[in-house]
Amino acid sequence: MFGPETVTRFQGIETPFYYYNLGLLSQTLQACKTAADKYGFHVHYAMKANFNPKVLATIQSFGLGADCVSGNEVSAAIAGGFKKQQVVFAGVGKTDKEINIALDADIFSFNVESVQELQVINELAKAKNKMARVAIRINPNVDAHTHHFITTGLDENKFGINSWQLNEVAETLRNCSNIQFIGIHFHIGSQITDLAVYKSLCIRINEMQTWFEDHGFQVKVLNAGGGLGVDYHHPDAHPIPDFEGYFKVFKDFLKVKPGQEVHFELGRALVAQSASLISRVLYVKYGQKKNFLVLDAGMTELIRPMLYQAYMKIQNLTQDFIAPLSQTNDPSLKAQDSKLKYDVVGPICESTDCFQKDVALPESFRGDLIAVRTAGAYGEVMASRYNLRDAVASVYSE
Ligand SMILES: *Cc1c(COP(=O)(O)O)cnc(C)c1O
Repeated sequence: MFGPETVTRFQGIETPFYYYNLGLLSQTLQACKTAADKYGFHVHYAMKANFNPKVLATIQSFGLGADCVSGNEVSAAIAGGFKKQQVVFAGVGKTDKEINIALDADIFSFNVESVQELQVINELAKAKNKMARVAIRINPNVDAHTHHFITTGLDENKFGINSWQLNEVAETLRNCSNIQFIGIHFHIGSQITDLAVYKSLCIRINEMQTWFEDHGFQVKVLNAGGGLGVDYHHPDAHPIPDFEGYFKVFKDFLKVKPGQEVHFELGRALVAQSASLISRVLYVKYGQKKNFLVLDAGMTELIRPMLYQAYMKIQNLTQDFIAPLSQTNDPSLKAQDSKLKYDVVGPICESTDCFQKDVALPESFRGDLIAVRTAGAYGEVMASRYNLRDAVASVYSE
């Protein structure tokens, strides 16, 4: 992703900033679309992963739908050109105001997460003399084998409706005159790299659609959610996730009836690899037990490592790409060859403001450019202005 030219360009830009590789983003979207089209699958982009305007515009241009988790996301999706018939709205705590925004926008579907929410949507739709299309988000109790902070599909998680509540759901659906049941929805977690997990999900989806059909409901839409993971350890070797392998699991194990639609909601897999957070080393502190690189970016710009104990690859761009240009060919003089260990930390007044401990890097100096890779998902969107810091900037490849 990086080379001497890009890094030279960075030298003239104030840090920190997110650097977006829009070419890689387009390649990723194309790979996803090609793989999904092969089986006639529908893909919605989970907007919460990244709603940077240029990123959204690029995604919209590929004809994807939008998966929203707030009223503002619904409005932004439609304002950004996503078709209302391709907008779905999930979330365990939709407010009346947000439900009304979505009703007014005539979105494709509400993914409903509780019996009470079903009743509230029905009442609000009745007041507007509208029909609300809904999919029931079912908690399949499938273990996503991902970090427990980002697992969502277990009985103990707050999301979705558990299987023992389905009788109540069916009865409520029958009594709601302003609700049209269209299908079932699942989302079991994020950063899922073990595709066998999706086979287990398919088996549960098959059971659940049989349950609804046995109870007199026609299931038009099977929505399998998102969660496909990316390679945080090897961003250059694996810049594009294995969409083909992912969709093939559903092709092989999901029982799709004639006329049924299969929907997905991918966030991270579409955007994560296309951005890095670029910062500079402010200070190098050598200690007896630890060495520290103090960056001009911290948890205010990128909180994933601090919030989820997430690993993100850290690279010294100056030492990797610029320093070698000015050195002799004598390998013994190349800084890269002597790696040191540093705790890479931010400037924020919190002890947890550390990107990673004991990172092996070439000897690093004040002013060196540092990239935190694979930062396109849940990065810029989670930035805050804690410590009254500047809002983080964005720079684009073109
Ligand atoms: C966050 C979310 C997604 C996307 O998850 P990724 O791991 O980014 O693919 C999909 N569906 C729902 C309901 C979500 O909340």
